[in-house]
Amino acid sequence: MAVKKPFIKIQCSVCKTTNYFTKKSKKAAEKKLELKKFCSTCRKTTLHKEGKKG
Ligand SMILES: [Zn+2]
Repeated sequence: MAVKKPFIKIQCSVCKTTNYFTKKSKKAAEKKLELKKFCSTCRKTTLHKEGKKG
């Protein structure tokens, strides 16, 4: 069994769809993630932000 790691959701800021997951490092935990990623729902590159915990 693998040890559970703190995965975070990366959500499209336009449609709120969770498109990506990433591991959060201690360094990255300091600030909110904002990434430009392709959203298959919007069918374009949008700004993606860190989703809520859970
Ligand atoms: Zn979207």
